[in-house]
Amino acid sequence: MKINKRTKTIKTIKIDIDKCNGCRACEVICSSFHAAPKYSSNNPARSRIRVIREPIRDVYVPVYAGDYVVAECAGRDKYTIDGKEYDECSFCRASCPSRDLFKEPDSGLPLKCDMCEGEDEPLCVKWCMVDALTVEERQEAVGEAEEVRDEIEIGIGLESLVNRFGIDKVVDLVAQLSKTK
Ligand code: SF4
Ligand code: SF4
Repeated sequence: MKINKRTKTIKTIKIDIDKCNGCRACEVICSSFHAAPKYSSNNPARSRIRVIREPIRDVYVPVYAGDYVVAECAGRDKYTIDGKEYDECSFCRASCPSRDLFKEPDSGLPLKCDMCEGEDEPLCVKWCMVDALTVEERQEAVGEAEEVRDEIEIGIGLESLVNRFGIDKVVDLVAQLSKTK
């Protein structure tokens, strides 16, 4: 499919907690994929997805690592599901100073799901045998602010190429590239 210049692909992982059985295969493959070297070790503490297990309350909730935040929230969330109350921050996606979740255990650096960059399909989705995780893709229009940012980045990149190789070389290369696209 030819992608319109003014659209971007958005991937969404849908989580069906009714299907999750708490097997933690998603944590294993994520931590293993992100090990250095790749697949050399497996430590769920390094996973970008964690399954919040509350067996007594009969719930397993896969939570994906989101953005790092420098300060913990002033307001907290408290969930009640099927009449059972869960601890504050239980299902929060942030890597935040108030807890160890979503931090690389040795360095303390924040972890964030990168959708398994370079893979055809997120590996946690592939490894979830009960389809508790499924992926959806959609095309979304690129916003004006993003377009401006892209143009600025292209401008900076071109300027540095011209400074390094000269305008003629850059123009030749762009002409060659345009024939192949
Ligand atoms: S692999 Fe699927 S079923 Fe197993 S813990 Fe992860 S989301 Fe739940
Ligand atoms: S999509 Fe990839 S990086 Fe994100 S949680 Fe799943 S396995 Fe980890």
